[in-house]
Amino acid sequence: MDLLEYQARELFERFDVPVLPGRTATTPEEARDAYRSLDSGTVVVKAQVRTGGRGKAGGVKLAHSEQEAVDTAAQILDLEIKDHPVNIVMLSPGADIAEEYYFSILLDRASRGYLAMCSVEGGVDIETLAEERPEALAKVELHPVDGITAEVAQRIVTEAGFPEDVHASVGEVLQKLWTVFKESDATLVEVNPLVKTGDGTILALDGKVTLDANADFRHEEWQQYHETTADVDLERQARELDLNYVKLDGSVGVIGNGAGLVMSTLDVVAAAGAELPGSPKPANFLDIGGGASAQVMANGLRIIMSDPQVKSVFVNVFGGITACNDVANGIVHALEMLGDEARLPIIVRLDGNSVDVGKAILEEANHPLITVKNTMDEAARTAAKLASEGN
Ligand code: GDP
Ligand code: MN
Repeated sequence: MDLLEYQARELFERFDVPVLPGRTATTPEEARDAYRSLDSGTVVVKAQVRTGGRGKAGGVKLAHSEQEAVDTAAQILDLEIKDHPVNIVMLSPGADIAEEYYFSILLDRASRGYLAMCSVEGGVDIETLAEERPEALAKVELHPVDGITAEVAQRIVTEAGFPEDVHASVGEVLQKLWTVFKESDATLVEVNPLVKTGDGTILALDGKVTLDANADFRHEEWQQYHETTADVDLERQARELDLNYVKLDGSVGVIGNGAGLVMSTLDVVAAAGAELPGSPKPANFLDIGGGASAQVMANGLRIIMSDPQVKSVFVNVFGGITACNDVANGIVHALEMLGDEARLPIIVRLDGNSVDVGKAILEEANHPLITVKNTMDEAARTAAKLASEGN
């Protein structure tokens, strides 16, 4: 579960990480109130969306007067950043930035542990930095219990090449960010940029936090996040329909039967997408389980197609107890039920029980949105290609 920046900011504040004040607004009028309550000449107006690169997309702007702040807020509230409509902006006092650093703690599935990453060259796109100048990005594995002690913090800032005069002040903030990570059951805490201001203060000027949904049961306070999360809305709708759905960040919708098949479908889609412009990735995990009736298929397609990031849908079914002809009928009837709501290309790969009958049904239906492919690889490539072109 990804938090919006203002929610990450609040979390940081609770754990004593130095941040600037922040006020949210959903209308230009609220932005006026926010501006007044900040009582700062210059403010920064920032789009609150679950995607990075807001700065480059025009979603982070300075404003030097009340009217400019209101106009800027109106402008940003009208934006859509990488398919994320901006519904909320945050206003903060403008910071006097002397240096921009990068810091993150994440659950590193490759090493099966926690990893801290740090650079004195922050503010930039970190994927680009990691690729082009990997030596500028220090990586320090963390002990899962001890995390970032004063000693570890010292090692991180040294390896990242921080100037000596900020070792202590930055180190202290890193220790606090570890507390945020641990106490919040996070899988990611990222601060880019962590800044040094003109007077030498260290501040977290941006925050990206992902919480581990598996820890939901022990965080009553997370309820507040559910209410603001469209993704979680979709997940909740899916749960009410008895569908096993997990929203991911890509553009290829995936429907399969059985968790194992869906997981390998995600891998195949990601591999096919990696070779294409925009590297389309899977948009979700959706296991329709054993009963691929028209209703279940319609529910699944409706959920996936209401995700604005999705550009194509890959239905990958292995007929077992539910034979392929039932699945094929399910897809055809689902499209009838959805009518105009069905708006995206659907690539179908069927195999197993009664596959020939299933394919014949889809052929017969001759639906303009449906493409049938014979193999999983072929189908994944087609779905990824259509998503890549649809972007
Ligand atoms: P992102 O593009 O989504 O990562 O959004 P950020 O919050 O990181 O903002 C992008 C960039 O805007 C930062 O790296 C800063 O250079 C700049 N920025 C953000 N807040 C301020 C501010 O208060 N003052 C100044 N001068 N620049 C800011
Ligand atoms: Mn940032």
